[in-house]
Amino acid sequence: MRFTSTCPQCGGTGQVGKQCTQCNGEGRLRKTENLEIKIPAGVQTGSRIRFAGKGDAGILGGPPGDLYIVSTVSPHPFFERVGDNIYCKVPITVTEAALGAKIEVPTVDGKAMLKIPPGTQSGQKFRLRGKGAPSLRATTRGDQFVEVKIVVPRVADERSKEILRELARLNPGNPRNEALHF
Ligand SMILES: [Zn+2]
Repeated sequence: MRFTSTCPQCGGTGQVGKQCTQCNGEGRLRKTENLEIKIPAGVQTGSRIRFAGKGDAGILGGPPGDLYIVSTVSPHPFFERVGDNIYCKVPITVTEAALGAKIEVPTVDGKAMLKIPPGTQSGQKFRLRGKGAPSLRATTRGDQFVEVKIVVPRVADERSKEILRELARLNPGNPRNEALHF
């Protein structure tokens, strides 16, 4: 931080005898200092955080002003924050989607269990209540939304292909009939 502080030689009056030699009568000195500051949980891009008394020195030894930090939140490779909610995409297998499963998903607090119901479709979103970002205004937290993406296996062996063909014979429905209104 670069800011001004009260001149220690004249105590901010600018005068020692005629004129203070250290601050040339200004009463304040420019200085650079490293400040350790605590960022409150829940800040967003554009949030203004006030640090009372950490600003420039006052005129003629007066009380110092406040320091304001305007935060910019860096993007995260996995989590996306929108308001107080957090969004992410998690891959699941065809079997997990069809039969249902309990899977581990990352949250900002660590891992959490998510229940995938049988018959889950790709792109479906599931809510983890209270796993979003803390709100600066309220005491509640946002939610985390997990969008699942079904990953289709690259089947190479004959046995797996035969099982899939058998599955198709047992389930002859055409999903395009409903989706495309044939
Ligand atoms: Zn001075």
